[in-house]
Amino acid sequence: MIRDPWEPLAHRPSPHQAVLSSVEVSVTNMCNLRCAHCAVGDQLMGKDPFRLPVETIIDALDQAPDLKTLSLTGGEPMVSREVVEQWVTPLLRYAKDRGLATQVNSNLTLPLERYLPLEGLIDVLHVSWNYRDQRDFEAVSGLRPAAAEKLFRRMLDNMEALSARGWFVSAESMMTPETAAYLGAFNRRLGAQGCRRHEVHPRYPVSWAAALPVLSLEETAAAVERLLDERDPDVWILFGTFPFFPCSPEPSHRALWRRVQMTPNTTIRNDPDGRSRLNVDGMTGRIRVTDFGNPAPLGSILDGVTLPEAFARYQEDLSYKPYRCVCPEAGCLGPNGIVARTYFQDVDFTARRALEPLPAAAGL
Ligand code: SF4
Repeated sequence: MIRDPWEPLAHRPSPHQAVLSSVEVSVTNMCNLRCAHCAVGDQLMGKDPFRLPVETIIDALDQAPDLKTLSLTGGEPMVSREVVEQWVTPLLRYAKDRGLATQVNSNLTLPLERYLPLEGLIDVLHVSWNYRDQRDFEAVSGLRPAAAEKLFRRMLDNMEALSARGWFVSAESMMTPETAAYLGAFNRRLGAQGCRRHEVHPRYPVSWAAALPVLSLEETAAAVERLLDERDPDVWILFGTFPFFPCSPEPSHRALWRRVQMTPNTTIRNDPDGRSRLNVDGMTGRIRVTDFGNPAPLGSILDGVTLPEAFARYQEDLSYKPYRCVCPEAGCLGPNGIVARTYFQDVDFTARRALEPLPAAAGL
């Protein structure tokens, strides 16, 4: 049985009762890369004009009694020593003192010495992986060939070195027209690098990626089937923002959902955004449902809005209503906003019901 502390259902007192069990803090908008697919690409800056005192962020976290996980993201949280020492480290120490599971999102291209002082404080080190080789990295990152070569090598070396030290490195790939045929190869390469988990999502058209092409549902289904056929069975595959549901009127989509659920070392995570998680912008104090897509803020910790209050506001949001569905028998909490807007514009999920139960062999 795989335990996933970021799964929203894992901490609910009952399946219908949402609790704020996860917070993600954006600690910087600086990044050394400008990846084509970056969900927050339009917010990146050369220098943060301002960052909240870390104590202000910790005070806000203190007011969220049901927290079980804390994630740090950016930008690139490791890009500056100052951010690492004055924001990342104290926030992770706070989380560990409170018994929270922690995740840091990094592109892993900074020197290894930047990561090592955080040993023992990070439960999941999360990195993006959409490359067959250095040439793909160069194309995605927009770096010149010499810089791409150096940073790609360093990413691989860091992955291997940290995995060998026992770090849990989880790499995320997007299913896109460019990657669909190579996800199995990505997965096996990640296994060879020591990564323990491969997180796989469709790429959705938001923010910087708004103009990039999206796979159709049938193309996505084919990419998932191929990945399952070609994968390394020892690497946990976690599907996120997965657009196939056990209530689908299309039997092949239900069959795919069932296949994924029954495959060992493979899970589907209900999307945490808004169901169990909020994002706090460490530069402005704004509380948002996600760090990308420019969602309307739910308040600001600087205005005295607590995280549970902001979470309660989101639960009342009417735009979320057509897909606020829960089928406990299938372990399903429905699509999130980007999945619904991309693939299910006119579907009222509240009128649907799971047609398949969660298989007994399912990972969660
Ligand atoms: S929770 Fe929603 S999406 Fe999931 S099976 Fe039920 S109705 Fe369908």
